[in-house]
Amino acid sequence: MTNLFDLTGRRALITGAARGIGFTLAKGLAAQGAAVVINDRDGAPVTAAVGRLADEGVDAVPCVFDVTDERQVSAEIDRIEKEAGPIDILANNAGIQVRAMLNEVSSADFGKILDVHVRGSFHVARAAARHMIGRGHGKIINISSIQGERARASIGPYTAAKGAVKMLTKAMTAEWATHGLNINAIAPGYLRTELTLPIQSDPVFTGWLEKRVPQGGWGTPEDLVGACVFLASGASDFVNGHVLVVDGGMIATL
Ligand code: NDP
Repeated sequence: MTNLFDLTGRRALITGAARGIGFTLAKGLAAQGAAVVINDRDGAPVTAAVGRLADEGVDAVPCVFDVTDERQVSAEIDRIEKEAGPIDILANNAGIQVRAMLNEVSSADFGKILDVHVRGSFHVARAAARHMIGRGHGKIINISSIQGERARASIGPYTAAKGAVKMLTKAMTAEWATHGLNINAIAPGYLRTELTLPIQSDPVFTGWLEKRVPQGGWGTPEDLVGACVFLASGASDFVNGHVLVVDGGMIATL
């Protein structure tokens, strides 16, 4: 029987993949046979990530751009398409956090968050989709968050941005599904990465999380690999505009 999750012959670009979730997704997609292209905004971390993947037997292609810079994004995606080959799968993962209350956060910080998550995801998806549409297939996976579904004090700008990523996903489906593209989102719960270090080290937060998540406490980037492989593979060919929550049951429950 055909392996519905096989990614042999597919090429995946993962943004913000020098560490954390992006790095782990790259490894997970490669384990199913995909060729992987590793993006981040600075050259040195990308080179280091490519080296760490090589140590694990994964031959990754480096690709440096800042997702907020539309010209850099387009130029680099066109270069990858020409030099490495077609991008069949895009994981729009790059992200940042700013922790501040809405009555205190600066307009500049608010804009920065929206810029990376929303405009950045749009830039990369648009540049990739222009190639995918011509080929009549492509898988775009936007990384939203449970914060796109539920708010929590002190991360208002991020909450607004992740809600926008969710709706951007559906807007992409409305326009690109007809061209053979699948655009879906993953909404992770709380995972141990550098992004969440400030709250991982807070025993009160961790204690609350352990009680609040039915499967218990913090997840890890590895917990997202199955969802990402599913949305990247033929197994999800009739799934479009969906937000797949991967949170240990957190937002299903009170
Ligand atoms: P990390 O901070 O560990 O990694 C994020 C990566 O994105 C970093 O390498 C960062 O580079 C890169 N990045 C940031 N801005 C840009 C940019 N403008 N262009 C290109 N790359 C950029 O975070 P996570 O791995 O935890 O997060 C990955 C994604 O998952 C994010 O979208 C995040 O919002 C989302 N997410 C994370 C959750 C979690 O619990 N960890 C939960 C839900 C969603 P640099 O070092 O230069 O900043």
